Amino acid sequence: MFSLFDKGCVFMKELKERILKDGIVINDDILKVDSFLNHQIDTDLVFKIGEFIASKFSGVTKILTIEASGIAYGLAVAKYYNNIPMVFAKKSKSATVDDNVYKTVIKSFTRNIESTVTVNNKYLNKGDKILIVDDFLAEGNAAIGLIDLCKQAGAEVVGVGIVIEKGFQGGRKKLEDLGLRVESCAIIDHFENGKVIIK
Ligand code: 5GP
Repeated sequence: MFSLFDKGCVFMKELKERILKDGIVINDDILKVDSFLNHQIDTDLVFKIGEFIASKFSGVTKILTIEASGIAYGLAVAKYYNNIPMVFAKKSKSATVDDNVYKTVIKSFTRNIESTVTVNNKYLNKGDKILIVDDFLAEGNAAIGLIDLCKQAGAEVVGVGIVIEKGFQGGRKKLEDLGLRVESCAIIDHFENGKVIIK
């Protein structure tokens, strides 16, 4: 019989091969995956990602991610918890932000700028059991910002589910030091001469 474990292994192998085939290393610290995850999206792979991440955590009542690239993955994970709500934090463009929002400042790894991100306080509540989902984990700033929003709302964070973790940029340690479990579909060990080396 084909178990959930076997299915997870097949998926992880498929994702790893896809990253090696189609991922492009930029500046030795950024991986571009525009052809299947971040610009053009492989829809079959997205739902496999959703199923895999959802299989790792239980008791989740809501997904929280950040626009724009987390949305597809947040949605796919939510589907596998029987269509629970998925909320995405918005990157605010104006300096004046409504009073009825939770807000935090997140430094962008790829653009090296800080932006205020917000979630309307109607959509995060005390009693929510939140799984944070994102496409990449690097230094952990995006996830820590999302955790801060949950804290403001009095919501519990169940864990963090990531599509691609860059294991050499320190994000996991910061999250684990906060007592959180991190599950990633693929963990990059390092980049070497423009090539991806996966654990
Ligand atoms: P962190 O906040 O953990 O430092 O970085 C994670 C965030 O930055 C994610 O939301 C992701 O969109 C973006 N990011 C970080 N590293 C990469 C990368 O190598 N490639 C891409 N495409 N995005 C990244």
